[in-house]
Amino acid sequence: MPEADNIPEATALPAGGVAFAHSEARAPGRELHDLVAELYPLCRSITGDGVRETLARLGRIVPLATHALPSGTPVLDWTIPPEWNIRDAWIADRHGRRVVDFRRSNLHVVGYSVPVRRRMSLAELRPHLHTLPGQPDWIPYRTSYYKEDWGFCLSQRALEALPEGDYEVCIDATLTPGELVYGEALVRGATDEEIFVSCHICHPSLANDNLSGVAVAAHLAREVGSRPRRYTYRFVFVPGTIGAIAWLSRNAAILPRIRHGLVLSCLGDAGPLTYKRSRRGDSAIDGAAARVLRAHGPHRILPFSPDGYDERQYCSPGFDLPVGRLSRSPAGTFPEYHTSADDLSLVSPDHLAASLAACRDIFAALEGERFFVNRSPYGEPQLGRRGLYRALGGEVRRDRLEAAILWVLNLADGRHGLTDIAERAGLPVTEIEAAAATLIAHGLIEETAGALRT
Ligand code: ZN
Repeated sequence: MPEADNIPEATALPAGGVAFAHSEARAPGRELHDLVAELYPLCRSITGDGVRETLARLGRIVPLATHALPSGTPVLDWTIPPEWNIRDAWIADRHGRRVVDFRRSNLHVVGYSVPVRRRMSLAELRPHLHTLPGQPDWIPYRTSYYKEDWGFCLSQRALEALPEGDYEVCIDATLTPGELVYGEALVRGATDEEIFVSCHICHPSLANDNLSGVAVAAHLAREVGSRPRRYTYRFVFVPGTIGAIAWLSRNAAILPRIRHGLVLSCLGDAGPLTYKRSRRGDSAIDGAAARVLRAHGPHRILPFSPDGYDERQYCSPGFDLPVGRLSRSPAGTFPEYHTSADDLSLVSPDHLAASLAACRDIFAALEGERFFVNRSPYGEPQLGRRGLYRALGGEVRRDRLEAAILWVLNLADGRHGLTDIAERAGLPVTEIEAAAATLIAHGLIEETAGALRT
């Protein structure tokens, strides 16, 4: 299916200005939780009808363009896999009773299992059964996207209750040439410079890891369209890894416009807000996110690492986009992660709402940030000649202005915002602003619309 090139836009509203309000008193936590609950039963994977249905439902929150890439399409170093769809799956005992039933939980089937229909002994079946002995009541979440295999996931207790004997095993699935689909919402602002938000939509009935980020992103996309904005906002809803790689492979022309980016995941649990820095470590979004999280209370700031979610792709060295990740408890750090215990009770309306408020405030900080470029960056410009250096020796205020001038000149590389410069200099923003105004008046720096990528 060809790609749809017409990306629907949110209703055009007066763009420009920096009139973002700070967090609203009443956040839509209930609405966010309802959306998580609505999407929770769908059997998503990296391809298939569960993803299509998820995107269709998100399209009711915010206009979404869907894009499709056929199986077999090369994307960077990868290839779009066959499409997987599943109708039913079960293990039945000799009385025909379903002892493991996909209809009760879609986590019971290893994602991307090839179709199976056969009778086998428990001993033969065992290598295909996955449990969590340390959490005997929980069903694990397992996938086998790129290696042909099949299997079932069940609780350790359910496994222990299975008597020896023969079982009927059925996975009524298809793994055939099809397509990978992803969704994109574009909300145009006063400039083409973009704030990029990405979340993964490939996990089945898992609430925090996957749906919390999806719900927050969809609501943010709707919300930014109703506010004045300098930036254009792009929200992508992609299957993890392969979807981000597919998006990157098709959007080379967009990449230079991405000034700030966020991957959203695991935003509904009770853990403190956690921001993982971009690969660059000092991107404008890294500074903005750290300041916003400080203002929001208990939080964690993590350095970049080449693991986690799709920040791995956006921050791979060839792209090196200024993209960080916002979570509460990061993937792999909470016991419910990738198990049936990551259910609707793990995510709360209040935590979802507070996560959305943090994103809103990060956007507001970026909308209000100012960026400058040094027009004379090769060696220090001669300040004395311009009356900007040691003109009034010994005066304390004068020394501070000089320090501010030197910091602005050094960090006016288009990537550091005025607030970042103030933080690095250890000086009040007002003094950095005054220095910037002086340097503009002397033609030594100029303001850019948004952070430059290089
Ligand atoms: Zn996951």
